[in-house]
Amino acid sequence: MSDIDPGEHTVEQLQDELANIDSPRELEGLLDAEKDGRERKTAQEAIRARMREVGEGVEEGTETEGEYRETADDVESEDAETTATDDLALDPSEYDIAEFGPAIKDVDDPDELEAILNAERNGEGRDNVVTLIESRIEKVSESEDSEDGDIDPTSFSTAELGNALQGIDDVERLREVLEAEQAGEDRGAATNLIQKRIDSVQEDDEPEEIEVVPPEEKHPDLDHPTADKQYVKALEDGVYRDMWVYCETQAGELIDVSKEMLGKARELMDTYNDDYGEDERVVAVLIGSDVEKHAEDVIAYGADVVAHHEDEGLERFQHKPYTELFCDMARAGATPGESRGSEAETDWRAYDEPRYTVFPATNNGRDLSALAQGELDSGLASDCSDLYIEEAMISNPVKTGRPGAKKEFERVLHMKRPDFSGFEYSTILCLDNPTREFHPQGASVIPGSFDLPEPDYDREGEVIEHDGDLDEDWLRVSVTDHDRLDEGVDLAGHDVVVAMGRGIGDSPTEGMELGIELSEAFADGALGVSRGIVTGSYEFAGHVERYTAEERQIGETGQVVEPDLYIAAGISGAVQHKVGMDNSETIVAVNTDPDARIRDFSDYFIEGDLFEVLPELTAALKAGELSSDEIAADGGANDD
Ligand code: FAD
Repeated sequence: MSDIDPGEHTVEQLQDELANIDSPRELEGLLDAEKDGRERKTAQEAIRARMREVGEGVEEGTETEGEYRETADDVESEDAETTATDDLALDPSEYDIAEFGPAIKDVDDPDELEAILNAERNGEGRDNVVTLIESRIEKVSESEDSEDGDIDPTSFSTAELGNALQGIDDVERLREVLEAEQAGEDRGAATNLIQKRIDSVQEDDEPEEIEVVPPEEKHPDLDHPTADKQYVKALEDGVYRDMWVYCETQAGELIDVSKEMLGKARELMDTYNDDYGEDERVVAVLIGSDVEKHAEDVIAYGADVVAHHEDEGLERFQHKPYTELFCDMARAGATPGESRGSEAETDWRAYDEPRYTVFPATNNGRDLSALAQGELDSGLASDCSDLYIEEAMISNPVKTGRPGAKKEFERVLHMKRPDFSGFEYSTILCLDNPTREFHPQGASVIPGSFDLPEPDYDREGEVIEHDGDLDEDWLRVSVTDHDRLDEGVDLAGHDVVVAMGRGIGDSPTEGMELGIELSEAFADGALGVSRGIVTGSYEFAGHVERYTAEERQIGETGQVVEPDLYIAAGISGAVQHKVGMDNSETIVAVNTDPDARIRDFSDYFIEGDLFEVLPELTAALKAGELSSDEIAADGGANDD
């Protein structure tokens, strides 16, 4: 064996030393020493070159020749094994360092990487290339571990563990890693890291639930007049069914809006039952004196069930007894036996509260709807002009209970109502909170919003009487006598109504004068106004002011007129105005805005300034060039 240590020599010095060595075994020993030591390719090449030289000089048949062949075969086969590059995923000798970095990132198999590492070590042996391959092997092994969830935390430093954890998104696997760490070294920093990773994965998975603190706990210093209602009466997991329609009667007659609501409720619940495979009903509620006589009618207009309460003391609407009775009927199933009604009365329904309630947006209906919905601890969308039932996807955390989460609510009554004087529509939804339910979903409906349905007297329905006495306390007001006032202005009985709106804004007194003149030019004309005039802050001269009072207001909260001819000057056509005049035979609108809503339901639309158009109409009438009959006849022809 040679006593030369190749590592102590430069390649040049080694070459000098090699020249003196003739023993193949000694050369083989040097080659091994270099491979195990500094691994210089050039040094190894020099030793091999010397081995070839020695081989060439060996005489055949001598002992040296046998030793040489054996050694050369060993070295060749070993070299072939360690330097065979044909099967490598990547031959490192073909890359300089700059190219090698990106290329090695494409290799993911740890065995292939080990082979490349060997090839580099047995080949050029570049330190930076070896480092690149080693770090690639480490990375690939870590991610394999993470994918399997088989991280053994004890084999990682805390820093390495931190990196490895980033690849794990499964809380269960992370918990296993945590247990392994605790059972092993139980390093504080490592357990912290694992716990943090668990928290962050959980946060991503399920956003934190909002803690609901009742307002009276949150703000104990404030008054909470509805506290008893909010948290005592709200139902959880309540059973809700059917659409209840409060059918108002006036002077003993079922009013049109009650029939309109029944028609709409029928349509909604037919679709609802088809969509959800249910058999929920339309329930008509009648309260008053001698109201059962309307049962046949309300069934014909769409009700499946008529629930009624009769009492002579209820001839006129009074909000206390009407509210108490309506809510008692609505809650009967929730408190059977405790209801004022008999057992039989509660048998017909087995649910806690109605799913939906609909009231007319009349004076009485508005009063009742607000009180009843408040008493039933729910909400109310007032003055609605359309209703439909649909799913609603909601992201408001108050309703979903989780910020950032979305939740689909089913069977939601969408309640559309005009806002900003009817120029915008809002859709109101009454949705449960995660910890509290809001039923019935309730709306009041503007009269005239829905078509009057054709009654079907072949329809059958159930009639249920709600009995029980009224509390005397509820009837503190009694009407002993009444009379209809002759005062005020009755616009209903005239052939022609000229109605003035906020279009008079530039010169209010003059605008009103023009309206008055036009109405007086007709044989039987009257002057009306929109609410825009009544509530506006105009300064009118005395002689026109009396024409601008509420008694002349036309619309939902004013008078309803159906003249042969209705002339609307400077009126936009808000739905609340429309319901008071759109049954007029012929409607003529004068407006500067060609897109004014009133155009949609006018027979004639005059695009123009009322200050110019009205005097011309008045002049034409006075000159006999125009008559109300002529306009109405033409308008009637164009009615559709
Ligand atoms: P605007 O809406 O302001 O319209 C003025 C119109 O005049 C515009 O179309 C404009 O283009 C036009 N104009 C402007 N200058 C001229 C000009 N020189 N010549 C011609 N045209 C011109 N309203 C009612 O009327 N009756 C009701 O009973 C009623 N009840 C209501 C109940 C409730 C609960 C609510 C919330 C609202 C109610 N309203 C009612 C109000 C209603 O929503 C509208 O605000 C109101 O009808 C608007 O009045 P307007 O059309 O005169 O005014």
